[in-house]
Amino acid sequence: MSNINEANVPEKELLDAGYRKYSGKEMDIYYNQQICEHAGNCVRGNPDVFEVGRRPWIIADNGETKSNERVLNSCPTGALKYIKKETA
Ligand code: SF4
Repeated sequence: MSNINEANVPEKELLDAGYRKYSGKEMDIYYNQQICEHAGNCVRGNPDVFEVGRRPWIIADNGETKSNERVLNSCPTGALKYIKKETA
């Protein structure tokens, strides 16, 4: 029933730490601009999901969950986090 992510960090902790939430059907993505070093792994990893200049710049549902996870885990700074939703 509970939502999970890699580090098992509750959403409240992410939001309190300054992460912004980008909701998707199967997963929510969280981004912290203050931590991001613009290495670009996200944009290179999937330009459909991460597009600088678009609003919102992250659209989780433009990518498969598995592929999103791979890209999110490639962020070198921890600026990107995610919480997968339990789908029935
Ligand atoms: S991969 Fe992480 S650090 Fe690099 S641009 Fe994307 S969010 Fe920022």
